[in-house]
Amino acid sequence: METRKNDSGTGSESIRRKDWLGKRFGNLTVVSYDGRDGGKHYWRCLCDCGKETRSCQSNLQSGHTRSCGCRVDPVNTRHFVEGTCLESIKSKKVFANNTSGVRGVYRNKRTGRWSAQITFQGRTRYLGSFEELEDAVRARAKGEKIFQEFLEIHDVPGKQK
Ligand SMILES: [Zn+2]
Repeated sequence: METRKNDSGTGSESIRRKDWLGKRFGNLTVVSYDGRDGGKHYWRCLCDCGKETRSCQSNLQSGHTRSCGCRVDPVNTRHFVEGTCLESIKSKKVFANNTSGVRGVYRNKRTGRWSAQITFQGRTRYLGSFEELEDAVRARAKGEKIFQEFLEIHDVPGKQK
């Protein structure tokens, strides 16, 4: 058998389907090859939301296409990671019963101090109690950094070997 060097740069002529099937791109899982169109390879992908979509290979590879379109904002392409609803922790919504106007910051009626806490993966972490609201807000913001790091760790689009 002759071994020909096939290195056109993109290698698009030598796609290996089994390397692609089951691959994850954001919310998408490649389920089948969907033919060529205009010199481009297309893949049928199943989105985490349950919808099927057809995606151009290069868009998948570049990270451009990460969902069926239900998640336009790339920041919101991950919903649940290890039991944590990433959208809920990113939400800036303040609960109606909140006294500070800032999520995770509460006034202790007895002491009059401000407490900061953060709920992460089902556990509430106490961040401290503070004389000044600002300090509690700052502590809460610091806690949110943990989330940020968590998000970044999980934002590795289909690690290439
Ligand atoms: Zn979707």
